[in-house]
Amino acid sequence: MHIATILAHAGLQTDPQTGAISTPIYQTATFAHPAIGESTGFDYSRSSNPTRKALEDAIAQLEGAHAGFAFASGLAALSTVLSLFSSGDHLVVAEGCYGGTYRLLDQIFARFGITVTYVPVLDVAAYRAAITPKTQAILIESVSNPCLWVPDYAALLALKIEHNLLLLVDNTFLTPYWFRPLEQGADIVLHSASKFIAGHNDTIAGLVAVKDVALAERVGYLQNAIGATLGAQDAWLTIRGMKTLALRLNAQQQNSQRIAEFLQTRTEVRQVFYPGLAHDENHQRIQQFSSGFGAIVSFEVDSLATVKRVISRLKLISYAESLGGVESLITVPAIQTHANLSAEVRAQLGVSDTLLRLAVGIEDVTDLIADLAQALETDGVGQ
Ligand SMILES: *Cc1c(COP(=O)(O)O)cnc(C)c1O
Repeated sequence: MHIATILAHAGLQTDPQTGAISTPIYQTATFAHPAIGESTGFDYSRSSNPTRKALEDAIAQLEGAHAGFAFASGLAALSTVLSLFSSGDHLVVAEGCYGGTYRLLDQIFARFGITVTYVPVLDVAAYRAAITPKTQAILIESVSNPCLWVPDYAALLALKIEHNLLLLVDNTFLTPYWFRPLEQGADIVLHSASKFIAGHNDTIAGLVAVKDVALAERVGYLQNAIGATLGAQDAWLTIRGMKTLALRLNAQQQNSQRIAEFLQTRTEVRQVFYPGLAHDENHQRIQQFSSGFGAIVSFEVDSLATVKRVISRLKLISYAESLGGVESLITVPAIQTHANLSAEVRAQLGVSDTLLRLAVGIEDVTDLIADLAQALETDGVGQ
């Protein structure tokens, strides 16, 4: 079956009794048992809930996993997956990961004796050099944030096999519509479903998909033991959003390409980062595994004055964190998403003070371009 079909049918037939087309919201904490020793398959909603299960089954099918798991946020999903590791274990993590991922590793899991070496996204030799006998896993994001660098999957998969490590992929930026890491040999996929998957800037949710049966059992155990699970209402919203993922991503990608091409023509713009551009250094590499280029366009402008002018003058595009929703949003990574990093690390990641990150929505692209054009224009106003 094609992925757009799987998406549209997410959660279908979860209620054979009534035939409800939309997954019912099972807003219940607990479930009655028919008799001693008998179960409906559900007993308590932290452990399992039918609405959440519909979402978990959908992400498992989409990612080609043995099992899926839904959490209260992307970071709840990551916290649970990181709880697979123990004091003394070591992880190799690609630089340029989500800021909350750094915080979780450096401020929380470090206190439990889990150590991390950060390596440049593209530097395969650095990953290799970082591996020690204590290393358990490599954690990468499918595309780095905010400059959209694409890791060398083939090389990292070879490294993972050679050293018997787990490969964990945060696939938030590409989603299973474009990229399915488990099919390539990764072990665990994570998502902030708050972004593209739920897709409407209205829900916080996290998803995990696990390929191996035994590993899935361990993650399922941790999901229940830690208890950071997704509520039924938000599970329903996530399913509801997910159904249109294919349509939304097609539109968002088309808009992104047009906007990236437009930005390149502007004298106020120094550099545009979008893997869909033919000259982008990631253009070839991303096509080796992903059927899409994403819907985030980052660009460097000529001065701090331009940053201020663009942010204050944009009308349609909101100045807000997050990405992946139907509404376009813009951020200044150096003072928002990447503010906690040192100036040195920011420089390594290409996060200059004049970099802007645009999360492209589904609006008509001519309106988006007109909004950007009037905001970039140096006519003396607002300077
Ligand atoms: C937003 C985000 C997260 C965190 O997800 P939340 O749902 O906000 O907890 C993790 N990874 C990436 C790549 C993200 O963009």
